[in-house]
Amino acid sequence: MSLGGDILHNDDDCNGAVVLVVDDDPTMRLLMKEVLQQSGFQVMEAENGQLAVDVFNQIIPDIILMDVSMPVKDGFEACKEIRAFPYGRYLPILMVTGLEDMASVNRAYSAGATDFLVKPLNWVILGHRVRYMLRSARTLEKLRESQKSNQALIDGLPDTIVRMAINGTVIDYKVGDDASLGMDKKEVVGNKLEKFLPPSLAKEMNGLVLYVFRTGETTTKEFPIKFKKNKYIYEGRLVKIGDYEVVCILRDITERRNSEERIHYLAYNDSLTTLPNRSFFNEWASNRLSYFRQAGGHLSIFILDLDNFKQINDTLGHHIGDALLKSVSIRLKQAIDIVCDSQHDCGDECEVLLSRFGSDEFAVVFVHPRHEIPVAAIASELHKEFSHSVELLEHEIFITASIGSASFPGDGHDLHTLVKNADTAMHYSKRQGQNHFCRYSSTMNARSMDRLTLENSLRKALSSNELLLHYQPQINFETGRIVGAEALIRWQHPKRGLLSPDGFIPIAEDTGLINSIGEWVLIEACQQMKKWIDAGYDIKRMAVNLSSIQFRQPDFMKNIRRIISKTGLPASYLELELTETSIMRNAERSISLLHEIRDDGLVLSVDDFGTGYSSLSYLKRFPIDALKIDRSFIKDIEHDSDDAAITCAIIAMAHNLNLKVIAEGVETEAQLKLLKEHQCDEGQGFLFGRPQLAEAFENLLSSQLDGGLFGALES
Ligand code: C2E
Ligand code: MG
Ligand code: MG
Repeated sequence: MSLGGDILHNDDDCNGAVVLVVDDDPTMRLLMKEVLQQSGFQVMEAENGQLAVDVFNQIIPDIILMDVSMPVKDGFEACKEIRAFPYGRYLPILMVTGLEDMASVNRAYSAGATDFLVKPLNWVILGHRVRYMLRSARTLEKLRESQKSNQALIDGLPDTIVRMAINGTVIDYKVGDDASLGMDKKEVVGNKLEKFLPPSLAKEMNGLVLYVFRTGETTTKEFPIKFKKNKYIYEGRLVKIGDYEVVCILRDITERRNSEERIHYLAYNDSLTTLPNRSFFNEWASNRLSYFRQAGGHLSIFILDLDNFKQINDTLGHHIGDALLKSVSIRLKQAIDIVCDSQHDCGDECEVLLSRFGSDEFAVVFVHPRHEIPVAAIASELHKEFSHSVELLEHEIFITASIGSASFPGDGHDLHTLVKNADTAMHYSKRQGQNHFCRYSSTMNARSMDRLTLENSLRKALSSNELLLHYQPQINFETGRIVGAEALIRWQHPKRGLLSPDGFIPIAEDTGLINSIGEWVLIEACQQMKKWIDAGYDIKRMAVNLSSIQFRQPDFMKNIRRIISKTGLPASYLELELTETSIMRNAERSISLLHEIRDDGLVLSVDDFGTGYSSLSYLKRFPIDALKIDRSFIKDIEHDSDDAAITCAIIAMAHNLNLKVIAEGVETEAQLKLLKEHQCDEGQGFLFGRPQLAEAFENLLSSQLDGGLFGALES
């Protein structure tokens, strides 16, 4: 029998599917089996509802054709039972009924039937009906699967998901794990956004929903939300789904934003002082500059470097250094506030940025679109903050700062040049002494070039044997004889000729070259002295000048001992000249070091006395042998009664402390007479002899051996 089902053989998606035919009429079952097998199905049979349930449980068919009226258990009952099994829930069940009344159709549906066929059956389309029923059941199954996996995906997402209609009504809502504002589903679903969001946010959201509908573009937006006094930042991603829905995926990014802000803060701020750092400064100032280059305006950069900060760090420790930097940053802020208050006539247009460049260097930028920046007044205000001491962890600290400034447009058009020029000006003020301010001038660059060249050639001076020593005689006023020599360094520069120490010692100190140069001087002077003693000359002391930097070296004493033992000069022949300033800095360490020097038998003198603290009562604490009165007092001693009085007082007080007094720079007979009258012990100066080479000095020593005395003292 061919009932027209053969075309379905080609359609293989349902081929081999198992159909369970349930009917109490064997003829009906046979016919159905025949037709369905021809259509490519496998057929199982059952003759009543109870058997149908049993067979279903054994084989789980793909589809069931179920007669309604059957003995033992009718089709409705069987259908209901099968539906109750998990695998039977979605199984397609076609009820085959001879009854055309609506009551049985309704019963079939309420028993869970998928569809129904009416007897007498149309055999031609039976195969088709079954096949299409199977297909739609499978499609539905796939849809259910995909819905399930979508739901699993959505459930697995930590985000809050809101499905919305075009009019802003929420269709569905899932609270995310991170939802700090977790609203209840009931509050949200079925309502318009205005009902549960703040008005401005709801308005913004509605606009976005419309936009996404119209354009189909996926749109991301950040929403800052205030909720129960806390601030949150949400990121919403709106995606159009189909023709009627927009889904908004909301994520709480408050923490991410906070850590981004923190990273930004750390990248642009100095952690110690919390001031903006150099990167921030660069961005800030570059922005203003590029605007001013078009529109006009004024910008001044101040670079401020603390004087002798390293020393505080080294001697008092880094914790004090850090505390000092913090206190300086606070003081600078105060100074800037004062400047800004005094500039109130400039309106709000003046902008200032204070930043820490690193170490002990700070930078301040002032900008004004119309007025020139009053740099000198500002620098003086900044300096004022350094005029008083600070007490830090029981230490009273005086700190000063050197300031340099450069201004746009006069001193440069780009930030790099302006910073470089302000830096040049700062270094220039540093060389003027402490607590100075200089504004940049173009001649500074030439001078710093010159210094740089000199610095480079000084590095080679030692190895190229360009350094030499001159010796100046020191005379005892009572005997008229040479008692000592002061070694004074010179640099035979290949191009610039013979240079005096004032021209290169400061460079050597700045660059640290002073340590190796100072060591060379000590060795050279000790060797020379040893030669003179060995040759039998009558000379008691070789005085060598020490830089405060050498004196501060941790292995200073070790070096001195090494040199003495290397050259073989008895320690008592070596006199070390130190300035008051280098002794006073870190007085506690100085005292113990000076004691070590004295215990080793060396002689100690204070050079240039009168130019520094000039505190004899303070000097009392230090184990020293002699004071050298600075040349500036001796120069006018005959004409300036003040200088004469000071000199006399120094001599008298020094004698009281058992210190010997040496007058520096004695040039005239009159000066000598006065000094002798006031019982000054010794002197050196052009009157007795200029600093000279060793051979010339040796001639002086020889004539002394022959009984010769200095003319000035013979009387
Ligand atoms: P100082 O130690 O006070 O040396 C005395 C300076 O006065 C020397 O200058 C000397 O030439 C000069 N002088 C001496 N008598 C007279 C005089 O009658 N009239 C005038 N107008 N000047 C006189 P110099 O050699 O140029 O040295 C300058 C300074 O350089 C020295 O001052 C000393 O502080 C420093 N110095 C010299 N040699 C060394 C050295 O080897 N190491 C260090 N660290 N500093 C040195
Ligand atoms: Mg000296
Ligand atoms: Mg001196």
